[in-house]
Amino acid sequence: MLRGGRMGCEKADLVLHDGNIFGHPESDSVAIGAGSIIAFGRFRELKSYIGPRTHLVRLGGRVLAPGFIDCHQHFMEGAAVATGISLVRCRTIGDLLADLRVAAAKTPPGNWLRAFGCDEALMHERRRPTRDELDQAVPKNPLRLRHQTLHASWLNSRAIAALGLESDQFVLPEGGQILRDATGRPTGLVVGMEEWLSARLPRVTVAEMESRARFYSHELAANGITAFTDATVRNGSEEVAAFSRLAASGSIKQRVSLMVGPRHLKGISSLRKTAAASGMQIAGVKFMHVTQWEPEILTQTILEAIGQDADCAFHVTELEELDAAVRACSRAWPQVAQPQLNQLRIEHGGLIPPEYPEQIAALGAWVVTNPSFIYYRGAKYAAEPGLIPYLYRGQSLRRAGIKLAGGTDAPVTPAKPLYAIATAVTRVSLEGYELAPAEGLSIEAAFALFTRAAAQLSRLPSGEIMNGRLADLIVLPADPTKLQPAELMNLAVETTIVGGQIVYERGRPVTSQAAGLPLFS
Ligand SMILES: [Zn+2]
Repeated sequence: MLRGGRMGCEKADLVLHDGNIFGHPESDSVAIGAGSIIAFGRFRELKSYIGPRTHLVRLGGRVLAPGFIDCHQHFMEGAAVATGISLVRCRTIGDLLADLRVAAAKTPPGNWLRAFGCDEALMHERRRPTRDELDQAVPKNPLRLRHQTLHASWLNSRAIAALGLESDQFVLPEGGQILRDATGRPTGLVVGMEEWLSARLPRVTVAEMESRARFYSHELAANGITAFTDATVRNGSEEVAAFSRLAASGSIKQRVSLMVGPRHLKGISSLRKTAAASGMQIAGVKFMHVTQWEPEILTQTILEAIGQDADCAFHVTELEELDAAVRACSRAWPQVAQPQLNQLRIEHGGLIPPEYPEQIAALGAWVVTNPSFIYYRGAKYAAEPGLIPYLYRGQSLRRAGIKLAGGTDAPVTPAKPLYAIATAVTRVSLEGYELAPAEGLSIEAAFALFTRAAAQLSRLPSGEIMNGRLADLIVLPADPTKLQPAELMNLAVETTIVGGQIVYERGRPVTSQAAGLPLFS
């Protein structure tokens, strides 16, 4: 049966036909006009939408599905990692140092070497690299090696000297910590100084940023991502402007939502204007380190954010953070005039003990879960069996009535929604640890984490194939809901469409997909 708007009056820009339409077993075709879905049904019923300028794409039995919405990632960091030195696969200190040595050999002496992805909990030796080891591997360049969680960095001696950390005049930034050995010498690991460090390293040029963004956005499209929310707490006017440039120039092909830090709340209306001018939106306010906030100030800031119509997202990985966030929301919520219009978001929700689901459900808060953490970081959690039942819970939160959406938290884990979806079902890590399998979701529910539910959370009219929804779609070789999880991980996205524009075709090199040139044939 044809499901169309104004039948036949409107001509489609794009008609995808002869396929399987996700969620509509009776349909084989979808018509797209002005960036949105205008009709779907059998191909013969859609003929009236085809005009002389309609582009036809034959799906040949493949599946047209909604594109993935990654509700929590860090685009700039992801782009830096995708185009820089990533050590996420290293599992021994020896491998890590060998990779650093190779990277250092390719970097002109004196230039900063930036690397990412070390996590001592995932190392065979279960220890951190030492300052001396880093000095030996990278003797001629200052080194910043970021922790995989993005909350700490290792520095070698050249970096420590360049930043003056051992000088008498050095003043520790607020919240920062320099770890020291028994003799008082810095070990190289610094915690809580990420922004401070970034501000002191050489600035990335606009051209470099653009080329990184273009490369990384292509990678996201190759993984089926059509929209994402950047959950970086540092985001303020400078970052909104940078994203704006990248979105406007077509370097970023996805729809972009940005969270901003609480200190930018005052200027949020002007940030919204800048964002909207290049088709982006401000997703809300990101709260970090909620345990360090004065509870009353936290509650007031939540109310202030809600008053500005901004969603409130809380970084919650530790139990204490969950408790502080839930308490603050519970104090604020009775004072909110129209709670049904506002959204509270627990980001990660890594550990949710039994006494919390009911409270979270009562607040109507979302849990933006990261199933990929189980896949990529399962070995770390398996070492703490007492916590496993509360780890990245799925099924029990759904049963408690909590709304769930998904994020990859890239680059903390790779921006691969299909891996997250498969792991939300299996709960099995890369190494084969099965962590709380009873929390596994159905494949349909897992798929919704990055489509239907993610669209609702992101306030995007997408995530489903319906008339009037944005034409943010992907072509898959098979129906993801009919595959085994292992097959799901290996499913290659063949085409990615954002707003009716094909932004990615498998096998076509990134250079031929330069933005901004409409093709007339
Ligand atoms: Zn994050």
